Amino acid sequence: MEKNILNNSIDRSWIEKWEPPFIISGPCSAESEQQIIETAKRLDPAYVQVFRAGIWKPRTKPNNFEGVGKEGLQWLKNVKRNTEFMVATEIANSEHVELALSFDIDVLWIGARSTSSPFIIQEIADALEGEKDKIILVKNPIHPDIELWIGALERLFRKGVRKLGIIHRGFYTYKASKYRNQPNWNLLSKFRRFFPRIPVICDPSHICGNKEGILEIAKIAYHYFKYDGLMIESHCNPDRAWSDSQQQITPEKLLELLKKLMDSYHPYPSKNGNKKYQIQNNLDSLRIFIDELDENLISILSERMKISKQLGSLKRESDISILQPNRWGDILNKSIKLGKSLGLSEEFLEGVFKLLHKESINIQKKIE
Ligand code: PEP
Ligand code: MN
Repeated sequence: MEKNILNNSIDRSWIEKWEPPFIISGPCSAESEQQIIETAKRLDPAYVQVFRAGIWKPRTKPNNFEGVGKEGLQWLKNVKRNTEFMVATEIANSEHVELALSFDIDVLWIGARSTSSPFIIQEIADALEGEKDKIILVKNPIHPDIELWIGALERLFRKGVRKLGIIHRGFYTYKASKYRNQPNWNLLSKFRRFFPRIPVICDPSHICGNKEGILEIAKIAYHYFKYDGLMIESHCNPDRAWSDSQQQITPEKLLELLKKLMDSYHPYPSKNGNKKYQIQNNLDSLRIFIDELDENLISILSERMKISKQLGSLKRESDISILQPNRWGDILNKSIKLGKSLGLSEEFLEGVFKLLHKESINIQKKIE
């Protein structure tokens, strides 16, 4: 399908009704009616447009709390009836869609694990056939395959869904990282070049996996990359939450955070801006990409040195000398070959690898 057709046909009216940022907040999971009511009551409708709660929770491993199920839909309906909020929940199969529609849930989101599965997406898209007025938000897939994400949007679009949006919740990484899910800002900006009109919501809670990083991610998304909105988990008693307790904040903390976000330095006041702002904006975006790559480099370096240490112990136990000239020659040659094919200079590669090798030898020498 022509990406242009999809992009041009996206109905942005649902989000453009509101002064940005469009805010979705509420607990990771609905736990009890009392928890839902209390959290909703403590959220400020002057700042928050949508109340969220997961009813069916896709858990990585069995034997965890998997959501209260259908019962929670009535709690969300009550929130909708008694507050100004629209309500949202995650759906992961056709039965969820039918139930959520029957309880008149306003916003349905597709979780990261579901976006990764074309069969699930097709089932959901079939169940949503002709639902022109429902707001459907698609989270990025767990792994950074943007074609899967685009495919999900196309499947929904083909069934007539038009009020689409995406949620950026970060990507799984096996590396040690300060994030629970790596933002990969560069990938997001590529994705948005395909669909410049699609409403984009950042989910700093699932990117950070902690409370402390949320504001920084929200600032990058909203101020620098001009996202349309944010989804931030809040809970009336985060420490007692049944899922994602480390990353949830109280409704009062959310309000504080949103005020800080709105008051914080806004580098580019006008949308189209003048040339100077535009250049500054581009510079800052590139610096954010560089910072994220540097964080990845550091994490990979640390992992490499840990393995060097293991090698060192093994060599010591087996009385093998630390410096193995043939092995070192191989590493250097193949790294230069690969690096050159990726556009790096020989001189640079040689410098980097000599430094790495030196550090690795130092580490191994220190082993008792
Ligand atoms: C959630 O929003 O609570 C959730 C399960 O998110 P994700 O699909 O991003 O893991
Ligand atoms: Mn969660």
